[in-house]
Amino acid sequence: MMRRFAPNETVDVVVVGTGAGAGPLLARFAAAGLSIVALEAGRFRNPKNFTPDELGSPDLYWMGERLSAGETPEAFGSNNSGIGVGGSTLHWGAFTPRPDPREFRLRSETGQGEDWPLSVAELLPFIERVERDIGVSGPSHYPWDAGRSYAMPPVALNAPAQKMQRGCAALGIVTANAPAAVLTRARSGRSNCRNCGACHQGCRNDAKASTANTYIPEAIAGGAEIRTGCMAVDIEQSADGRVRSIVYRKDGVLHSQKCRALFLCAGAVETPRLLLHSEAGNSNGQVGRNYMAHIATQVWGSFDDEMRMNKGYPSSLMTEDFLRPKDADFASGYLIQSLGVMPATWANAMGRGREIRGQALTNALLGYNRAGGIGINGDCLPSDGNHLTLSDEVDESGMRKPLVTFSYGANETAMDAHALRTMRQIWEAAGATDIWVAPRSAHTIGTCRMGGDPDRNVVDGVGRSHEIDNLWICDNSTFPSAMAANPALTQMALSLRTAEAFLAS
Ligand SMILES: Cc1cc2nc3c(=O)[nH]c(=O)nc-3n(C[C@H](O)[C@H](O)[C@H](O)COP(=O)(O)OP(=O)(O)OC[C@H]3O[C@@H](n4cnc5c(N)ncnc54)[C@H](O)[C@@H]3O)c2cc1C
Ligand code: SF4
Repeated sequence: MMRRFAPNETVDVVVVGTGAGAGPLLARFAAAGLSIVALEAGRFRNPKNFTPDELGSPDLYWMGERLSAGETPEAFGSNNSGIGVGGSTLHWGAFTPRPDPREFRLRSETGQGEDWPLSVAELLPFIERVERDIGVSGPSHYPWDAGRSYAMPPVALNAPAQKMQRGCAALGIVTANAPAAVLTRARSGRSNCRNCGACHQGCRNDAKASTANTYIPEAIAGGAEIRTGCMAVDIEQSADGRVRSIVYRKDGVLHSQKCRALFLCAGAVETPRLLLHSEAGNSNGQVGRNYMAHIATQVWGSFDDEMRMNKGYPSSLMTEDFLRPKDADFASGYLIQSLGVMPATWANAMGRGREIRGQALTNALLGYNRAGGIGINGDCLPSDGNHLTLSDEVDESGMRKPLVTFSYGANETAMDAHALRTMRQIWEAAGATDIWVAPRSAHTIGTCRMGGDPDRNVVDGVGRSHEIDNLWICDNSTFPSAMAANPALTQMALSLRTAEAFLAS
């Protein structure tokens, strides 16, 4: 039975969100005996009700309208954020590369981008703890990090991964089975992976980790209340500027929960939106700045063999060979991973990528069973022109809709061009024909940057607001740079680290 708190009771901590940033700290705070309420805009889900039918899964995605501007505007909706207990980890890909040490000191290394206020070595114990907590499988030998090992064997390679392995081998590119937050051995009531390929629609077998099948049950068992259907809409401050309570809307009615400390873990769009709407923590004007998205371009092709890429865990092969390419005319680098998508997602990528519609698109879609793709996760530098502001349109929550302006700069454009050449070569060497490109970006990062300088950053190196001492932020908004590593593992590790800092404070 979940514990319940009264709104007029002052709890130790209110956390907004239950995704990658929130889950670990919720479990840690509950274990430490704090009184905690998590406000979650979505609802609890029974994994047995997840369906591989993409069109039957829209309530996994954050579908509240976000206005997108800039020269390379990012697509929102299913592309990059989730809703419900578990947040985006309900439908994430569970691909869990660790950050490379160079990624946290990009400015020192290249003169571009930003350094992080911590080193990867400092984060490593938390990374390893998350990998144990959620169950990360991976290769026995990691070619780019000799000291690393994974407790469980890797997931099976899907068909595009096997083609990528062949293409890379022909070109002398090193590959490895990908680390994935997917169980290959059953444990704690969670099944091992059945290779069904429906990861992005929610894993019915609980083989794929989410915070909903790991940290959140732990938090509830420890006494945390997860209050669902509650959209946080305002932060109330006392005369001394400290957070007093958080206002939320449930079933159209406004409520308020008193708290001693507030943690915003609502993601890199909703966290700055709430701060801007509440006019809190932004006297230096930094909230909403430095919005970043990963370059996530995909290259697709057709093969003579049957591929049936809807089957198998998609991101099962990767290479880190391009984290710092020798011939780069840009700072930083990218990872390449194998892909596998369901038909509607593929149709969407093809419609946009090939710019075809109607009968031409229908004809092209008949090639689904022989298609395969690879894609990148490329670093993105913070830039003054890329930011989140509030538009003039108001939605049903009563808040102004977020307006995100995002354009690739010269660094992103050069990296994307390099990656495209590389991926085309790999796909040609793998035997693909009829190769085409789906330009895209993914993930929502930045907007409440962490760092030591209170004039340039929103939170300090452990996530505490520079301006309001009982306000903390722990989500992808605090990342100083995007990194090539996909963000969720780093995020969960930061969450454990922030929890320890808060408990020690
Ligand atoms: C389709 C997809 C695939 C991905 N694949 C990968 C991958 O393979 N590997 C990887 O590392 N990363 C992946 N990611 C990214 C990863 O999921 C995110 O980096 C991570 O979940 C971000 O954590 P967060 O805490 O910032 O936000 P989230 O996990 O999105 O959590 C935010 C939570 O806040 C809630 N919320 C927001 N606003 C409010 C409000 N006002 N009131 C109450 N609740 C609110 C939301 O409902 C949500 O539960 C993927 C993401 C998507 C969408
Ligand atoms: S492929 Fe594995 S991890 Fe993905 S949904 Fe199926 S069982 Fe779950």
